[in-house]
Amino acid sequence: MSTLDGTVVAITGASSGIGEATARLLAGRGAAVVLAARRTDRIDTIAQEIRDAGGHALSCPVDVTRAEDLHRLVGTTVDGFGRLDVLVSNAGIAPISQVADLDTDGWTAMIDVNLRGVLNGIAAALPVFREQGRGHLVTTVSTAGLKITPTMAVYAATKNAVRTLLEGLRQESTDGVLRTTAISPGYVRTNLADSMPDATIRERIRDNMRESALPPEAVARAIAFAVEQPDDVEIGELSIRPTAQG
Ligand code: NDP
Repeated sequence: MSTLDGTVVAITGASSGIGEATARLLAGRGAAVVLAARRTDRIDTIAQEIRDAGGHALSCPVDVTRAEDLHRLVGTTVDGFGRLDVLVSNAGIAPISQVADLDTDGWTAMIDVNLRGVLNGIAAALPVFREQGRGHLVTTVSTAGLKITPTMAVYAATKNAVRTLLEGLRQESTDGVLRTTAISPGYVRTNLADSMPDATIRERIRDNMRESALPPEAVARAIAFAVEQPDDVEIGELSIRPTAQG
C-alpha cells in the first residue's frame, strides 16, 4: 500500500514545472490526481502517461483567473474521484521588473494569477472541504517573499499576500477541518523565466537557475511531505532552497 492511496488531489499549474512534478510524484504514491492548466495538450498527455503507468489521473482545462474554471475543476474532481482531499494552488507567473518601470499590465497579471487565482481556488474548494469535514489547501509561494530583492517587489507582494491569506484562513479554521500549507521554494529549474518580459532580467534569472536551482521533483517531495501527514498535523510553512542559494 502506498502512502497516498485513495487521496484525491487537484493541482493547478500542472502542465509543467513544479505542478507537473507534483502530479507525477503524488500519483506514483497512490493519489488520484486532477491536472489543471490552460495548455490542455500538456495536461492531457501527462494524465495519460500517469494512467499508462497504472495511476489515476484526469485533466481539466483551467484558467485560474476565471472563478468558474475553478468550480469546474472541483466539480470534475468530485465527479471523477468522489471527493477532493487536497487542492494544490500552484499556478503562477513572474513577469518581474523594477517598480519604476511601471509595467502595470504585468502587475495586474501577477495579481490576477498569483493572488486572485488562489482566492478562486479557495472559493471553489472550501464548501466541499467543509461538507466533507476535511480538506487541505497547499499553495506555492516563494522565498522571494522572505528575502525581498530588486525586480521582485510586485511578484513577492502577490506571494506574501497569499501567505497572509493562508494564515488568516488558518486562524479562522480552528474546528480541525482545514489544513493549510504555504511552500516557499527558492530557485527551481522550470520555465518560469519565460514569463519575464525584460530580456536582461530573464537572462539573469536563467543564469541563476543554471548555476544553482532545485529540480522540480524536490519541491514535489516537500508538497508530498505536507500532504502525507495525519489529519491532525499541519505543516504550515515550508521553505526549500538549493543549499548554495544565498
Ligand atoms: P512553470 O512556468 O513551469 O509553471 C507555471 C504553471 O502555471 C504552468 O503549469 C502554467 O500552465 C500555469 N499557469 C500560468 N498562468 C495560468 C493561468 N492563468 N491559469 C492556469 N494556469 C496557469 O513554473 P514553475 O513550476 O516554476 O511555477 C509553479 C509555481 O511555483 C508558481 O506559482 C511560481 O510562482 C512558483 N515558484 C517558482 C519558483 C522557481 O524558481 N521556478 C520559485 C518559487 C516559487 P499553463 O501555461 O498551461 O496555463
